[in-house]
Amino acid sequence: MKAYHVSPSAGFVKLDAMENPYRLPASLAREMGEKLAGLAVNRYPDPNVPGLKARLREVMGVPDGQEILLGNGSDEIIQIISMALARPGAVVLAPEPSFVMYRMSAIAAGLGYAGVPLAKDFSLDEDALLRAIEERRPALLWLAYPNNPTGNLFSRAAIERVIAAAPGLVAIDEAYYAFSGGATAMDALGKHPNVVLVRTVSKLGLAGLRLGCAIGPKAWLDEFEKLRLPYNVDVLSAAAGELLLAHHGVLEAQTRQIVADRAALESALDDIPGIERFPSAANFVLVRLADGPRVFEALKHRGILVRTFHGSHPLLANTLRLTVGAPDENQRLVEALRSILA
Ligand code: PMP
Repeated sequence: MKAYHVSPSAGFVKLDAMENPYRLPASLAREMGEKLAGLAVNRYPDPNVPGLKARLREVMGVPDGQEILLGNGSDEIIQIISMALARPGAVVLAPEPSFVMYRMSAIAAGLGYAGVPLAKDFSLDEDALLRAIEERRPALLWLAYPNNPTGNLFSRAAIERVIAAAPGLVAIDEAYYAFSGGATAMDALGKHPNVVLVRTVSKLGLAGLRLGCAIGPKAWLDEFEKLRLPYNVDVLSAAAGELLLAHHGVLEAQTRQIVADRAALESALDDIPGIERFPSAANFVLVRLADGPRVFEALKHRGILVRTFHGSHPLLANTLRLTVGAPDENQRLVEALRSILA
C-alpha cells in the first residue's frame, strides 16, 4: 500500500483535487463565523447531529424510509462500510480504474479485493463484472456514479443487472452527483434491499468541512453505526454544514457555473491537436496525451497542478485528470497545454 497522495500545492493553480474553486460570499462567511463563535466547544457534539441530518435529507431528497449515517468525509463512510463487511474470506469487488480508497479500505480492513477492468471506453464491462460476481461472490461491490478518475456515468441498465446479480451489498458512490445532470441511483434504494448510496458535500464546495454520508435502509445503517466512532463529526463542521446547506442555492449556483465551464473547457481541449478527451459528468475532465508524464511536468513548471494517472492502471496510460477551475484558471490551463503541445 501507499499512503493517499496529496501534492504540495502552495502557489499553484490547483486543478488536482476536484475542489469547487469558489469561496463563500462574504456575508455568508461572516454569518458562519458568528454561528461558530457561539458554539460550546468544551462539550462533545450531539452524536446524532439531527439538524445537519435533517438538512441533508431535504437537500438530497432522501426518500422516506431511508436513513442517513454521517461520516468525516465520504472517505470515512467507505472505511466504515469496508469494516462492516470484513470477515475471513470476504471479498470486495470494484471496477478499475476507480476511486483508490475502495481498494485501500478493503485491504486495511483485512478483506480480499479484486478489481475488474472497465472496457476501453471506460464503460462497465458487464460480462466481466457478472463473471467476477459469480466467481468471487463479493460481500461488497463498489460503483462510483459518475466514476473517478474517468468522469463517465455507467449505464443504469447495466447497474441494475449488477445489483440483481450481486449476492452482497452494492455501494453506489455519488460523490460527483452535483455535476451529473441529475443522474442518481437514489431510486434504487426503495427497490433493492442490498443497495446503499454514498454522498459527500465536498465537491459541492465544502471539501474542508469533511462531511459525507451513507444513505440506505435502516437494517444496513444500524450495522454501520456500530463501527462509527462516537463523535466522528465535530461541532464546527456540523454547525457550518447545517448553516451552509440552508443556503444551498449559493452552492448550486456555483455548481451550475462549473458545469458550464466544463463544457467550455471540453470544447477548448477538443481544439488542441494531440489531446484525446473523454466525456465527463463530473467536475473534472480526463485527457490522454502522447506523453502524459511530460505534459504533467511541463504544466507543473508553468505553475499548474493537475493529477497524472500514468502508471496507476493500464487503461490510464498517459492520462491526466484536469479539475474544472474558475474560468481564468481553465484559460491558463488551456493556454499552457496549447503551448506545451505546439
Ligand atoms: N468518492 C469518490 C468517487 C471520490 O472521488 C472522492 C474524493 N476524491 C471521495 C469519495 C471522497 O470524498 P470526501 O471524503 O471528500 O467526501
